[in-house]
Amino acid sequence: MSRMQASKPIFTPEEARGIRRNALAWYDKYARALPWRADRPDPYHVWLSEIMLQQTTVPAVQNYFRRFIALWPDVHALAAAPESAVLKEWAGLGYYARARNLHKCARVVCACEEYQGRFPDNEAALLALPGIGPYTAAAIAAIAFERPAVVIDGNIERILARLRAIETPLPAGKKEIRKAGESLMSAQKHRPGAFAQALMDLGTSVCRPRGPLCMSCPLQDLCAGARKGIQNDLPRREKKAPKPERAGEVFFVFDGQGRILLHRRAGKGLLASMIALPSRGWDGSGVNDMDPGRLSVRDVTPVPGAEIRHVFTHFALRLIPYSGRLDPRRALPDGFFWAEITKLEDAGLPGLFRKAVPLIRDMDSG
Ligand code: SF4
Repeated sequence: MSRMQASKPIFTPEEARGIRRNALAWYDKYARALPWRADRPDPYHVWLSEIMLQQTTVPAVQNYFRRFIALWPDVHALAAAPESAVLKEWAGLGYYARARNLHKCARVVCACEEYQGRFPDNEAALLALPGIGPYTAAAIAAIAFERPAVVIDGNIERILARLRAIETPLPAGKKEIRKAGESLMSAQKHRPGAFAQALMDLGTSVCRPRGPLCMSCPLQDLCAGARKGIQNDLPRREKKAPKPERAGEVFFVFDGQGRILLHRRAGKGLLASMIALPSRGWDGSGVNDMDPGRLSVRDVTPVPGAEIRHVFTHFALRLIPYSGRLDPRRALPDGFFWAEITKLEDAGLPGLFRKAVPLIRDMDSG
Protein backbone atom coordinates (compact mmCIF):
# COMPACT_ATOMS: atom_id res chain seq x y z
CA MET A 1 0.00 0.00 0.00
CA SER A 2 1.44 3.36 -0.95
CA ARG A 3 1.59 6.23 1.55
CA MET A 4 -0.77 8.16 -0.67
CA GLN A 5 -3.49 5.51 -0.50
CA ALA A 6 -3.05 5.09 3.24
CA SER A 7 -3.34 8.83 3.87
CA LYS A 8 -6.75 9.10 2.15
CA PRO A 9 -9.08 6.96 4.15
CA ILE A 10 -12.14 9.18 3.87
CA PHE A 11 -15.25 8.24 1.96
CA THR A 12 -16.64 10.56 -0.69
CA PRO A 13 -20.14 11.82 0.15
CA GLU A 14 -21.53 9.56 -2.56
CA GLU A 15 -19.76 6.48 -1.18
CA ALA A 16 -20.93 7.34 2.33
CA ARG A 17 -24.53 7.65 1.12
CA GLY A 18 -24.30 4.29 -0.65
CA ILE A 19 -22.88 2.54 2.41
CA ARG A 20 -25.53 4.01 4.70
CA ARG A 21 -28.36 3.14 2.35
CA ASN A 22 -27.22 -0.45 1.79
CA ALA A 23 -26.33 -1.10 5.42
CA LEU A 24 -29.68 0.23 6.69
CA ALA A 25 -31.67 -1.80 4.14
CA TRP A 26 -29.76 -4.91 5.21
CA TYR A 27 -30.30 -4.10 8.91
CA ASP A 28 -34.05 -3.72 8.43
CA LYS A 29 -34.12 -7.31 7.21
CA TYR A 30 -31.46 -9.03 9.28
CA ALA A 31 -30.97 -7.10 12.55
CA ARG A 32 -30.23 -9.37 15.51
CA ALA A 33 -32.97 -9.51 18.12
CA LEU A 34 -31.15 -8.45 21.29
CA PRO A 35 -32.78 -7.85 24.67
CA TRP A 36 -31.72 -4.19 24.82
CA ARG A 37 -32.95 -3.34 21.32
CA ALA A 38 -36.34 -1.74 20.74
CA ASP A 39 -38.04 0.66 18.31
CA ARG A 40 -37.70 3.32 20.99
CA PRO A 41 -34.65 2.21 22.96
CA ASP A 42 -34.64 2.85 26.70
CA PRO A 43 -31.47 4.86 27.50
CA TYR A 44 -31.03 2.84 30.72
CA HIS A 45 -31.03 -0.40 28.71
CA VAL A 46 -28.66 1.02 26.10
CA TRP A 47 -26.25 2.30 28.76
CA LEU A 48 -26.32 -0.97 30.72
CA SER A 49 -25.75 -3.07 27.60
CA GLU A 50 -22.91 -0.87 26.34
CA ILE A 51 -21.09 -1.03 29.69
CA MET A 52 -21.51 -4.81 29.78
CA LEU A 53 -20.33 -5.13 26.18
CA GLN A 54 -17.02 -3.36 26.85
CA GLN A 55 -14.39 -6.10 26.30
CA THR A 56 -17.15 -8.74 26.33
CA THR A 57 -19.11 -10.54 23.61
CA VAL A 58 -22.86 -10.31 22.98
CA PRO A 59 -23.53 -14.01 23.81
CA ALA A 60 -21.72 -13.63 27.16
CA VAL A 61 -23.66 -10.47 28.05
CA GLN A 62 -27.27 -11.38 27.24
CA ASN A 63 -28.12 -13.36 30.40
CA TYR A 64 -26.36 -10.86 32.66
CA PHE A 65 -28.35 -8.08 31.03
CA ARG A 66 -31.66 -9.89 31.55
CA ARG A 67 -30.83 -10.62 35.20
CA PHE A 68 -29.84 -7.00 35.89
CA ILE A 69 -33.06 -5.69 34.32
CA ALA A 70 -35.14 -8.18 36.31
CA LEU A 71 -33.43 -7.19 39.56
CA TRP A 72 -33.13 -3.47 38.87
CA PRO A 73 -35.70 -2.41 36.25
CA ASP A 74 -34.62 1.22 36.18
CA VAL A 75 -31.66 3.38 37.09
CA HIS A 76 -33.23 4.40 40.41
CA ALA A 77 -33.46 0.76 41.50
CA LEU A 78 -29.85 0.14 40.49
CA ALA A 79 -28.66 3.26 42.32
CA ALA A 80 -30.46 2.13 45.48
CA ALA A 81 -28.82 -1.33 45.46
CA PRO A 82 -25.74 -1.97 47.63
CA GLU A 83 -22.49 -2.12 45.66
CA SER A 84 -21.84 -5.64 46.98
CA ALA A 85 -25.10 -6.86 45.36
CA VAL A 86 -24.10 -5.34 42.01
CA LEU A 87 -20.63 -6.92 42.20
CA LYS A 88 -22.17 -10.28 43.06
CA GLU A 89 -24.45 -10.22 40.02
CA TRP A 90 -21.55 -9.07 37.84
CA ALA A 91 -19.32 -11.95 38.96
CA GLY A 92 -18.00 -13.93 36.01
CA LEU A 93 -18.31 -11.06 33.53
CA GLY A 94 -14.79 -9.79 34.32
CA TYR A 95 -13.28 -6.28 34.36
CA TYR A 96 -14.90 -5.50 37.69
CA ALA A 97 -14.07 -1.79 37.65
CA ARG A 98 -16.94 -1.63 35.15
CA ALA A 99 -19.42 -2.84 37.77
CA ARG A 100 -18.21 -0.36 40.37
CA ASN A 101 -18.38 2.50 37.85
CA LEU A 102 -21.79 1.32 36.66
CA HIS A 103 -23.11 1.62 40.16
CA LYS A 104 -21.40 4.99 40.70
CA CYS A 105 -22.82 6.26 37.42
CA ALA A 106 -26.36 5.19 38.38
CA ARG A 107 -26.00 7.09 41.65
CA VAL A 108 -24.69 10.20 39.92
CA VAL A 109 -27.52 10.19 37.36
CA CYS A 110 -30.11 9.82 40.13
CA ALA A 111 -28.52 12.30 42.56
CA CYS A 112 -27.82 15.01 39.97
CA GLU A 113 -30.31 17.88 40.15
CA GLU A 114 -30.16 18.32 36.39
CA TYR A 115 -30.63 14.68 35.40
CA GLN A 116 -32.98 13.36 38.12
CA GLY A 117 -32.55 9.79 36.93
CA ARG A 118 -32.53 10.60 33.19
CA PHE A 119 -29.38 10.03 31.17
CA PRO A 120 -28.04 13.10 29.35
CA ASP A 121 -28.63 12.96 25.60
CA ASN A 122 -25.30 14.19 24.24
CA GLU A 123 -21.80 12.80 24.02
CA ALA A 124 -20.05 15.52 26.04
CA ALA A 125 -22.33 15.12 29.07
CA LEU A 126 -22.30 11.33 28.84
CA LEU A 127 -18.51 11.38 28.72
CA ALA A 128 -18.40 13.17 32.07
CA LEU A 129 -20.18 10.26 33.82
CA PRO A 130 -18.26 7.47 35.62
CA GLY A 131 -17.30 4.51 33.43
CA ILE A 132 -18.30 6.14 30.13
CA GLY A 133 -15.43 6.59 27.66
CA PRO A 134 -15.51 8.09 24.16
CA TYR A 135 -16.78 4.94 22.43
CA THR A 136 -19.55 4.30 24.97
CA ALA A 137 -20.64 7.96 24.95
CA ALA A 138 -20.88 7.90 21.15
CA ALA A 139 -22.79 4.59 21.13
CA ILE A 140 -25.33 5.76 23.74
CA ALA A 141 -25.78 9.14 22.02
CA ALA A 142 -26.45 7.44 18.67
CA ILE A 143 -28.50 4.43 19.79
CA ALA A 144 -30.51 5.91 22.67
CA PHE A 145 -30.88 9.50 21.44
CA GLU A 146 -30.43 9.37 17.63
CA ARG A 147 -27.52 11.81 17.74
CA PRO A 148 -24.99 11.74 14.89
CA ALA A 149 -21.90 10.20 16.52
CA VAL A 150 -18.79 8.37 15.36
CA VAL A 151 -19.27 4.89 16.85
CA ILE A 152 -16.27 2.61 16.27
CA ASP A 153 -16.15 -0.68 18.16
CA GLY A 154 -14.00 -3.67 17.16
CA ASN A 155 -16.46 -4.84 14.50
CA ILE A 156 -16.82 -1.41 12.94
CA GLU A 157 -13.05 -0.89 13.05
CA ARG A 158 -12.61 -4.05 10.98
CA ILE A 159 -15.30 -3.09 8.45
CA LEU A 160 -13.84 0.40 7.99
CA ALA A 161 -10.30 -0.95 7.52
CA ARG A 162 -11.62 -3.32 4.85
CA LEU A 163 -13.94 -0.86 3.11
CA ARG A 164 -11.09 1.65 2.75
CA ALA A 165 -8.31 -0.98 2.36
CA ILE A 166 -6.38 0.61 5.24
CA GLU A 167 -3.18 -1.37 5.54
CA THR A 168 -1.38 0.56 8.25
CA PRO A 169 -1.16 -1.93 11.13
CA LEU A 170 -3.04 -1.24 14.37
CA PRO A 171 -2.64 0.55 16.65
CA ALA A 172 -1.11 3.22 14.32
CA GLY A 173 -3.83 2.51 11.75
CA LYS A 174 -6.55 3.64 14.19
CA LYS A 175 -6.07 7.25 13.09
CA GLU A 176 -6.95 6.46 9.49
CA ILE A 177 -9.83 4.26 10.57
CA ARG A 178 -11.13 7.11 12.73
CA LYS A 179 -11.00 9.46 9.74
CA ALA A 180 -12.91 6.94 7.66
CA GLY A 181 -15.51 6.62 10.45
CA GLU A 182 -15.86 10.39 10.73
CA SER A 183 -16.46 10.77 7.01
CA LEU A 184 -19.14 8.10 7.22
CA MET A 185 -20.91 8.90 10.48
CA SER A 186 -20.31 12.43 11.77
CA ALA A 187 -22.97 13.99 9.54
CA GLN A 188 -25.35 11.03 9.72
CA LYS A 189 -28.66 12.51 10.74
CA HIS A 190 -30.88 9.74 9.36
CA ARG A 191 -31.14 6.84 11.87
CA PRO A 192 -27.62 7.11 13.31
CA GLY A 193 -28.38 4.50 15.98
CA ALA A 194 -29.67 1.95 13.47
CA PHE A 195 -26.68 2.60 11.20
CA ALA A 196 -24.16 1.99 14.00
CA GLN A 197 -25.97 -1.20 14.97
CA ALA A 198 -26.18 -2.26 11.32
CA LEU A 199 -22.38 -2.08 11.09
CA MET A 200 -22.01 -3.96 14.38
CA ASP A 201 -24.27 -6.74 13.10
CA LEU A 202 -22.56 -6.84 9.71
CA GLY A 203 -19.22 -7.20 11.49
CA THR A 204 -20.55 -10.13 13.51
CA SER A 205 -22.30 -12.12 10.82
CA VAL A 206 -20.91 -11.05 7.43
CA CYS A 207 -17.64 -9.11 7.67
CA ARG A 208 -16.33 -11.66 10.17
CA PRO A 209 -12.76 -11.50 11.47
CA ARG A 210 -11.86 -14.66 9.56
CA GLY A 211 -13.57 -15.58 6.31
CA PRO A 212 -15.70 -12.52 5.55
CA LEU A 213 -18.78 -13.46 3.49
CA CYS A 214 -18.24 -10.87 0.78
CA MET A 215 -20.66 -12.51 -1.64
CA SER A 216 -23.52 -11.88 0.82
CA CYS A 217 -22.36 -8.43 1.85
CA PRO A 218 -24.51 -5.41 1.04
CA LEU A 219 -21.36 -3.26 0.92
CA GLN A 220 -19.41 -5.39 -1.52
CA ASP A 221 -19.62 -2.93 -4.42
CA LEU A 222 -18.19 -0.19 -2.20
CA CYS A 223 -15.41 -2.22 -0.59
CA ALA A 224 -11.85 -1.37 -1.62
CA GLY A 225 -10.42 -4.24 0.45
CA ALA A 226 -12.55 -6.83 -1.37
CA ARG A 227 -11.74 -5.20 -4.71
CA LYS A 228 -8.04 -5.60 -4.02
CA GLY A 229 -8.49 -9.10 -2.59
CA ILE A 230 -6.77 -8.19 0.69
CA GLN A 231 -9.84 -8.15 2.96
CA ASN A 232 -8.84 -11.31 4.82
CA ASP A 233 -5.63 -9.68 6.03
CA LEU A 234 -7.29 -6.52 7.35
CA PRO A 235 -7.00 -4.90 9.74
CA ARG A 236 -3.29 -5.63 10.12
CA ARG A 237 -1.84 -5.56 13.61
CA GLU A 238 1.61 -4.98 14.98
CA LYS A 239 2.91 -8.05 16.77
CA LYS A 240 2.16 -7.87 20.47
CA ALA A 241 4.80 -8.69 23.05
CA PRO A 242 3.77 -11.77 25.05
CA LYS A 243 2.06 -10.93 28.35
CA PRO A 244 4.29 -11.17 31.43
CA GLU A 245 3.45 -14.04 33.74
CA ARG A 246 2.83 -13.71 37.46
CA ALA A 247 2.54 -16.49 39.98
CA GLY A 248 0.99 -17.08 43.35
CA GLU A 249 -0.73 -19.53 45.64
CA VAL A 250 -4.42 -20.07 46.28
CA PHE A 251 -5.74 -21.78 49.42
CA PHE A 252 -8.65 -24.21 49.66
CA VAL A 253 -9.32 -24.15 53.39
CA PHE A 254 -11.98 -26.68 54.44
CA ASP A 255 -13.85 -26.82 57.73
CA GLY A 256 -14.68 -30.55 57.48
CA GLN A 257 -18.40 -29.70 57.37
CA GLY A 258 -18.86 -29.08 53.64
CA ARG A 259 -17.70 -25.46 53.73
CA ILE A 260 -14.71 -23.57 52.35
CA LEU A 261 -13.10 -20.33 53.45
CA LEU A 262 -13.77 -17.24 51.33
CA HIS A 263 -13.18 -13.56 51.87
CA ARG A 264 -14.00 -10.20 50.39
CA ARG A 265 -10.92 -8.60 48.87
CA ALA A 266 -9.72 -5.14 49.75
CA GLY A 267 -11.50 -2.18 48.17
CA LYS A 268 -8.53 -1.24 45.98
CA GLY A 269 -6.46 -2.97 43.30
CA LEU A 270 -7.26 -5.89 41.05
CA LEU A 271 -10.62 -7.61 41.74
CA ALA A 272 -11.28 -4.96 44.38
CA SER A 273 -14.17 -5.77 46.76
CA MET A 274 -14.83 -9.09 45.03
CA ILE A 275 -15.49 -12.36 46.84
CA ALA A 276 -12.40 -14.57 46.50
CA LEU A 277 -10.56 -17.65 47.63
CA PRO A 278 -7.68 -16.61 49.86
CA SER A 279 -4.46 -16.30 47.86
CA ARG A 280 -1.03 -14.78 48.07
CA GLY A 281 1.86 -13.85 45.82
CA TRP A 282 0.93 -12.51 42.38
CA ASP A 283 4.41 -10.93 42.19
CA GLY A 284 4.09 -7.44 43.54
CA SER A 285 0.53 -6.81 42.42
CA GLY A 286 -0.36 -5.78 45.97
CA VAL A 287 -2.85 -8.58 46.55
CA ASN A 288 -1.09 -10.65 49.21
CA ASP A 289 -4.11 -11.58 51.25
CA MET A 290 -3.48 -14.84 52.92
CA ASP A 291 -1.17 -15.98 55.68
CA PRO A 292 -2.21 -19.57 56.52
CA GLY A 293 -0.09 -19.46 59.71
CA ARG A 294 -1.87 -16.37 61.03
CA LEU A 295 -5.21 -18.08 60.50
CA SER A 296 -3.95 -21.31 62.17
CA VAL A 297 -4.72 -23.37 59.07
CA ARG A 298 -3.54 -26.97 59.60
CA ASP A 299 -2.20 -29.57 57.16
CA VAL A 300 -1.34 -27.09 54.41
CA THR A 301 -0.23 -29.16 51.42
CA PRO A 302 -0.05 -28.55 47.65
CA VAL A 303 -2.90 -30.07 45.64
CA PRO A 304 -1.03 -32.67 43.53
CA GLY A 305 -0.70 -31.80 39.85
CA ALA A 306 -3.10 -28.85 40.03
CA GLU A 307 -2.70 -25.27 38.85
CA ILE A 308 -5.08 -22.50 37.85
CA ARG A 309 -4.29 -20.26 34.92
CA HIS A 310 -6.03 -17.02 34.07
CA VAL A 311 -5.27 -14.17 31.71
CA PHE A 312 -5.84 -10.58 32.79
CA THR A 313 -5.46 -7.55 30.52
CA HIS A 314 -1.83 -6.92 31.44
CA PHE A 315 -0.53 -10.27 32.64
CA ALA A 316 -1.09 -14.00 32.74
CA LEU A 317 -1.48 -15.57 36.17
CA ARG A 318 -0.56 -19.06 37.41
CA LEU A 319 -1.83 -20.02 40.84
CA ILE A 320 -0.70 -23.17 42.66
CA PRO A 321 -3.51 -24.53 44.86
CA TYR A 322 -2.89 -25.64 48.46
CA SER A 323 -5.42 -27.34 50.68
CA GLY A 324 -5.70 -27.06 54.46
CA ARG A 325 -8.07 -27.38 57.39
CA LEU A 326 -9.32 -24.84 59.87
CA ASP A 327 -11.37 -25.46 62.99
CA PRO A 328 -14.79 -23.90 62.29
CA ARG A 329 -15.05 -22.72 65.92
CA ARG A 330 -12.14 -20.33 65.44
CA ALA A 331 -12.95 -16.65 65.08
CA LEU A 332 -12.23 -15.40 61.56
CA PRO A 333 -10.49 -12.14 60.69
CA ASP A 334 -12.58 -9.32 59.20
CA GLY A 335 -13.81 -10.05 55.69
CA PHE A 336 -13.39 -13.87 55.94
CA PHE A 337 -16.37 -16.22 56.04
CA TRP A 338 -17.40 -19.82 55.40
CA ALA A 339 -19.34 -20.73 52.25
CA GLU A 340 -21.21 -23.96 51.42
CA ILE A 341 -19.23 -25.85 48.76
CA THR A 342 -22.46 -26.97 47.05
CA LYS A 343 -23.46 -23.32 46.58
CA LEU A 344 -20.16 -21.90 45.35
CA GLU A 345 -21.69 -20.93 41.97
CA ASP A 346 -23.89 -18.43 43.80
CA ALA A 347 -21.11 -16.96 45.92
CA GLY A 348 -20.22 -14.21 43.41
CA LEU A 349 -16.72 -15.48 42.65
CA PRO A 350 -14.96 -13.84 39.69
CA GLY A 351 -13.83 -15.97 36.72
CA LEU A 352 -10.34 -16.63 38.11
CA PHE A 353 -11.67 -18.29 41.26
CA ARG A 354 -14.60 -19.99 39.52
CA LYS A 355 -12.00 -22.06 37.72
CA ALA A 356 -11.14 -23.66 41.06
CA VAL A 357 -14.69 -24.80 41.84
CA PRO A 358 -14.56 -28.24 40.07
CA LEU A 359 -11.26 -28.96 41.82
CA ILE A 360 -12.72 -28.01 45.20
CA ARG A 361 -15.80 -30.19 44.59
CA ASP A 362 -13.59 -33.18 43.70
CA MET A 363 -11.52 -32.74 46.83
CA ASP A 364 -14.59 -32.29 49.05
CA SER A 365 -16.25 -35.43 47.70
CA GLY A 366 -13.02 -37.46 47.65
FE1 SF4 B 1 -16.31 -7.00 4.67
FE2 SF4 B 1 -16.27 -8.35 2.36
FE3 SF4 B 1 -18.28 -6.70 2.95
FE4 SF4 B 1 -15.87 -5.74 2.39
S1 SF4 B 1 -17.22 -6.89 1.00
S2 SF4 B 1 -17.20 -5.07 4.04
S3 SF4 B 1 -14.56 -7.29 3.33
S4 SF4 B 1 -17.73 -8.61 4.02
